Amino acid sequence: MIIAIDGPAASGKGTIGKRLAAHYGLRHLDTGLLYRAVAKSVIDGGQTPDNVDAAVAAAKALDPSRFDEAALKGPAVGEAASFVSAIPQVRAALVKLQRDFVATPPGAVLDGRDIGTVICPDADVKIFVTAAPEVRARRRAMEYRAAGKDGDEATVLTDIRKRDERDSNRSASPLRQADDAHLLDTTDLDVEAAVAAAIAIVEKCRTS
Ligand code: C5P
Repeated sequence: MIIAIDGPAASGKGTIGKRLAAHYGLRHLDTGLLYRAVAKSVIDGGQTPDNVDAAVAAAKALDPSRFDEAALKGPAVGEAASFVSAIPQVRAALVKLQRDFVATPPGAVLDGRDIGTVICPDADVKIFVTAAPEVRARRRAMEYRAAGKDGDEATVLTDIRKRDERDSNRSASPLRQADDAHLLDTTDLDVEAAVAAAIAIVEKCRTS
């Protein structure tokens, strides 16, 4: 089974993706980490994230087995990721890696921005996870604080709004709900309720 999860920043798609993968015994890929790793590599090399040549070279050299997730998860890398991810050649360089992951048994859950629309248009289940921006900012700020990072809610809200805007309005694989995706709004749901709602969607798709 292939499950495609998309949605804006901090909507809960990563948590839901991980939990669905564990529940169904599937592999999980947080595709945001790929773009974050490209961005970090460009920055570490002394370039700006809109440098096309540097970003494409970083995307081609990517080695997910060496990802340091904690170092990739901060706000600055997320912001930079939304610049490298708008470069069509960067996206193209990452397609094979994602499709190879999907093709490896026993099946996979991928979360990102273009999984249901571009990477896995034939996924068995597509879920578009969203939540009010203020709620997403509150959750993300709490995560940052729990990790010992600066978690000012107003700053996080401004950042995720800018990032959503950039991700939704780029011409290469913009953030968009696939026509056949199920909408899951987690604004009023805690983690357990959101996961239960996602499982209910998967079960409905499996029996229909
Ligand atoms: O999901 P996450 O917040 O880690 O993603 C970081 C950035 O990577 C997003 O803001 C977006 O620009 C980019 N991204 C993307 N396509 C994906 C996953 C992430 O463009 N499938």
